[in-house]
Amino acid sequence: MDTARSDTQDVSQLTDKDWRDRLDPDAYEVLRHAATERAFTGKFLDLKDDGVYHCAGCGAPLFSSDTKFDSHCGWPSFYEKLDSENVISRTDTSHGMVRTEVLCKNCGGHLGHVFEDGPKPTGLRYCINSAALGFKPGND
Ligand code: FE
Repeated sequence: MDTARSDTQDVSQLTDKDWRDRLDPDAYEVLRHAATERAFTGKFLDLKDDGVYHCAGCGAPLFSSDTKFDSHCGWPSFYEKLDSENVISRTDTSHGMVRTEVLCKNCGGHLGHVFEDGPKPTGLRYCINSAALGFKPGND
C-alpha cells in the first residue's frame, strides 16, 4: 500500500546518538539493542482496534490488526506480517537459545522473534515488543 509506505522515513544516516534522542528509552533499548520488554507490560498487548502497526523507529508499516491474536505469551502477537518486504528475519543464538529474530528491514530495528506455534493459516507467531511499534487506527 503506497500511502502507508510513504510514511516510512529514511533513517540510514542516523547515529546511535540520533536514535537515542529520537526514541523513548524503552523503544531505544528494544529497537537498537534487542532488549525485550517485560511480559504483559506492553501498551499494545490487549489492543483490539482496527489499524496498522508500524515501526516505532522509522514508520514502516509492519503488521495489521487483522492478523493479531491472543497468544497469552505476554507480547503482542501476529500470525502474519503485513508486507513481506518490510519485515525480515535472521537466526539469533543469544541467551543460549536458537530463535528467529524479526527486524524492520528499513531501519534494522529489532522487533521481536517469530515462532512456529501460531494459528492457521500460517502457523506462525510473530511475538513483537510493543515498544518497537506505533499504531495507526483505521481500516487498511
Ligand atoms: Fe523501522
